[in-house]
Amino acid sequence: VQASVLALALVAGFGPLVGLATHGVERFCPFGGIEALWSVITRQSFVCALGPYNLGLMLALLGLTLLARKAFCAWACPVGTLLEGLARLGGWLRRTGAPGASGHVPGLLAPPRRLDRGLRWLRLPVLVGVLAATAGTGELLFRAFDPYYVLFSAHGHEVRWWSYLVLGVVLTGSLVVPLAWCRYLCPLGGALWPAARAGWLRIARRAETCTGCANCDVACPHGLEVSRAPSVTSGECTLCLECTRACVATGSLRVVPFGLERLRVPAWGLSALLVLATLGGLVLADAMAWASYTREYGSPSPGGQVRTLDLEVEGVRCVDTARRAAEQLAQVPGALKLTAFAADHRLLVEYDAGLTTPQALVKALEAPVWNERSGEFRFNLFHVTRREP
Ligand code: SF4
Ligand code: SF4
Repeated sequence: VQASVLALALVAGFGPLVGLATHGVERFCPFGGIEALWSVITRQSFVCALGPYNLGLMLALLGLTLLARKAFCAWACPVGTLLEGLARLGGWLRRTGAPGASGHVPGLLAPPRRLDRGLRWLRLPVLVGVLAATAGTGELLFRAFDPYYVLFSAHGHEVRWWSYLVLGVVLTGSLVVPLAWCRYLCPLGGALWPAARAGWLRIARRAETCTGCANCDVACPHGLEVSRAPSVTSGECTLCLECTRACVATGSLRVVPFGLERLRVPAWGLSALLVLATLGGLVLADAMAWASYTREYGSPSPGGQVRTLDLEVEGVRCVDTARRAAEQLAQVPGALKLTAFAADHRLLVEYDAGLTTPQALVKALEAPVWNERSGEFRFNLFHVTRREP
């Protein structure tokens, strides 16, 4: 499952460079759904480059987390997958495999528990800061720091040289302390914590067969104490199954639903939950086709025929670029209304067929754009890649 999601993230991010995909990685990030919430609730529109996929996947993730804690982090998040690889590398470098604890991901250092718990609270100010900045500016200011965007956007337009520096710090930190980014800084992990704490599925320990060897504690990449309690109820558990793999008393640790401890959920059951949640998110997204930006230019002439031109436009990627596209069309007599779906690079243009034509609208859109800041025309800012009719 992890390999498939990682491959999809690479195709979504780097595909546009070789004509394999037309949409970037942002539209599939569930954290974008949380960032979009404020503008969706207050204006029924999406902020910056976000769209219905972000919101649909975020709602699906919430449902998944209420069922299976932070399974998304261990089973799907492509950043989590890479950092898990680094933690394994750190564990290999440290060469401290406890007997029988094959495949565990302990990293180079295990921080003291009190420090670890304290540092986890850092996710809260990060989350509040990102949401406040997004609601206040309407821009995704976090993108330049976000390991997901920096890694998979193929040098996206917000990425700066220092973004790679920040990424380097995140990667090095996660080599030293396993999943350091996920544990201490990831705002999505922080936002999911309350739902994960209430999660229905959990790791249960059978005290009769447990030998008390504590291999499970060593193996847990989130530093949880599995060997002491009858079950793991922490909001940090990702159901990654590292503890069950490390357990020397086969069957002592298993995934069970709360209240139905006799039932055991197999690994394929967790994979199936993930696939179902993703499909559910995509279905939800289809039902939430709110626009990112709309502008009305005027009314049709008496007896005029109102038609709609459906365009996919390279260059329309956020609210700001949609606004510029609207400026281009404002010069066309007969243009009536523009509705932009920035995440899909899509514009719907209503026009008076008696006053203008689709060709004239496309020509106006693709014309050089005046940039007030630089005092120069910018060529090829917008390029129509699909047109109906
Ligand atoms: S308790 Fe087990 S399943 Fe949960 S995060 Fe730790 S190792 Fe993974
Ligand atoms: S649950 Fe398994 S790994 Fe953990 S202490 Fe008991 S026997 Fe050891």
